[in-house]
Amino acid sequence: MPKIILPKSVESVYLIDMQKVLLLFSIPFILLTNFETRAQSAKDFAEIWEKNHISNILPSNARHKDLQKYLAALKEMGLKIDEVGRSYANREIYQIEWGKGATRVFLWSQMHGDEPTATSALIDMFAYLQQNGDKKWVKKFEETFTIRAVPMLNPDGTELYQRRNLQGIDINRDATNLKTPEGQLLKKLRDEWSPQIGFNLHNQQDLTTAGDSTRQAAISFLAVLGNPNGITNAGHERNKRVIGAMTLALNQFISGYIGRYDEDYNALAFGDNFSAWGTPVILIETGALYGKDEMFLVKMNFVAFLSALQSIAEGTESKLSPINYDLLPLNTSGKLAYFIFRKATIVNNSDAGVAPFVSDVAVNLERRRAELLALTYVRDVGGLPNLTGLEEYDASDFYLVPRFGKIKPGEAGEFLFYKKSRTVDWKTPNLESSVPPDAIFSQGKWLKGEGVLQKKN
Ligand SMILES: [Zn+2]
Repeated sequence: MPKIILPKSVESVYLIDMQKVLLLFSIPFILLTNFETRAQSAKDFAEIWEKNHISNILPSNARHKDLQKYLAALKEMGLKIDEVGRSYANREIYQIEWGKGATRVFLWSQMHGDEPTATSALIDMFAYLQQNGDKKWVKKFEETFTIRAVPMLNPDGTELYQRRNLQGIDINRDATNLKTPEGQLLKKLRDEWSPQIGFNLHNQQDLTTAGDSTRQAAISFLAVLGNPNGITNAGHERNKRVIGAMTLALNQFISGYIGRYDEDYNALAFGDNFSAWGTPVILIETGALYGKDEMFLVKMNFVAFLSALQSIAEGTESKLSPINYDLLPLNTSGKLAYFIFRKATIVNNSDAGVAPFVSDVAVNLERRRAELLALTYVRDVGGLPNLTGLEEYDASDFYLVPRFGKIKPGEAGEFLFYKKSRTVDWKTPNLESSVPPDAIFSQGKWLKGEGVLQKKN
């Protein structure tokens, strides 16, 4: 990093004018050069994303045709885009390529159709790199790497917003069976090119937690080992350090909300097999973060990708300790629910003979596209001291009545709330319209009476 060195002779009466002139001319130049050659910080990358991202639809709403629009824009910018294969339903699968360096980096996203975040982040990354070749750090990337990426490996699953492909096969359990055209393609792309590092890009459950905490794991990592014996190798160790670099970057935004997966070997998964075949893989799983939307997580992916690449291009990863990776808390599940109503008096009106009783009720949301109505279901009923809600409500002053069916696990999380001071005949036909409730909770929102129940967190 060049420093601005003030000439000592600046004190000289005779030289001062000339020095000043030179200085005046050189300062902007030095500052500019300085700005361009120093390592980009995580905040720089985040700002770059905010100012330049071209993905403009929430990832969960994006279809194959939206990907094609993004790719057309990338092609217009001069990026190399190739159709490299077709899905089971004959949808085009594409590969983007950028850079001319010797280090071959391969990324693929959305092999599970309902795991879309990284697809948008890849588009944004390539768009920026392609349009900013004049920046020194981008030039360095270009000279260091050849980057190939397959965004949306499973377009049929994406259309249906489901994990599996159209055959109903989990592509990520098809690495050795190769019954899916998508899996066959992925293996072929690796075998033909032998990338030195692979990034397997997924989304995990929104309620995955980091370690013993009840904090959501917004991002999780795994340096995939690729053998069942726990024997490490240089690529695996490098990937741990690269994950360390990504973690240090993401800590600027989501410290405490980053997790790590256990190194359970899966003989059928692509990550393990890629690693075994010679392309050590980093798994990135995007989760969710309460109060943040999908685009925030696209930004986090963007920051992670560029931080990983920078750590390799600048050689900083080699100086990092694997401890940044090893200290990441292991992911856990089962501790969080989306909503918990504490100490509600439950009136299961269709359950003749069951007297109202006091209980907690936890409600979860199903994974769906953002544009669709949220589907809720009762996660659990009972005393739930070991479960934490992303939103919790004190329902101790209320009757909780199901809008449809009964209050039991798996049933819709659609509730009417009546103040306990009211006297209501629960057998009244068309209860909701005949005896208007004080509050209605529907599709994860307050349809009526928001603020009537006290929020606990
Ligand atoms: Zn997945």
